[in-house]
Amino acid sequence: MSRVAYVNGRYVPLRDAMVHVEDRGYQLSDGVYDVSEVVDGRLIDEDRHWARLAYSLGELRIRPPMAESALRLVVRELVRRNRIRHGLVYLQVTRGRAPRNHAFPAVPVPPSLVITARRADPAAAARATSGIAVITVPETRWARVDIKTIGLLPNVLAKQAAKEAGAAEAWFVDAHGIVNEGSSSNAWIVTRGGEVVTAPVTAPILRGVTRIAVIEIAAALGIPVAERRFTLAEAHDAREAFITSTTTHVAPVVVIDGVAVGDGAPGPITIALREAFARRIAG
Ligand code: PMP
Repeated sequence: MSRVAYVNGRYVPLRDAMVHVEDRGYQLSDGVYDVSEVVDGRLIDEDRHWARLAYSLGELRIRPPMAESALRLVVRELVRRNRIRHGLVYLQVTRGRAPRNHAFPAVPVPPSLVITARRADPAAAARATSGIAVITVPETRWARVDIKTIGLLPNVLAKQAAKEAGAAEAWFVDAHGIVNEGSSSNAWIVTRGGEVVTAPVTAPILRGVTRIAVIEIAAALGIPVAERRFTLAEAHDAREAFITSTTTHVAPVVVIDGVAVGDGAPGPITIALREAFARRIAG
């Protein structure tokens, strides 16, 4: 079955899905995006994804392309047209199409909206069960990583560095040796003392929807989470580590910078959170 995308008001075959060369997203990365998961035909944590999109748009003063209620309908229709039971929805809004100029268009133009959907890759989820390796890279991103902008060049370079090192993710570490987050995930450790730690939202991180869900799940399991910053030294010394994201859920980290985390196998707290998350999204 050929895939269908939504582009500026139309459902079109993916092969014909195009935006204009003067779209500000294409020329200036002047746009935002969000990715959400479909499980059994349902959108997971939909309200939180819409809230984050509204936040990102608001921070960049990009007009919403349509009312949220209408957007929800379009996403549902796209999922239906692509016959997706399990998959991912990618949604991108840019400031629109205008002659290239750094400043916002003097006469406002309609924002551009692109949505694509694809089936889940079950192999990707299975890979994460046995644990992944991460490398660390210097933090080179801008100061507003709380906005989910399409300007992802540092993340792209970090992920490529991870891939070339045989790892699945790269953690950004600042000049003080503090771990912020991954190139496309939030970072967590379980210290030797058994404290589950992830960076607070006041740190330079994206407010991961999965991060919040896992904090709630941990509370329900009676596992307290310390939202505080942690150092690379603590990560290297940790008993367990894991990442969270919409696409990987809770993925154990078993190697950091080539060195085994704990005994080199997914730890019990990570496994408990991973399984509880799986139960949660299964409804
Ligand atoms: N941090 C970054 C930089 C990301 O790109 C992502 C993926 N969207 C996350 C964290 C995790 O966010 P979420 O759990 O909402 O997918």
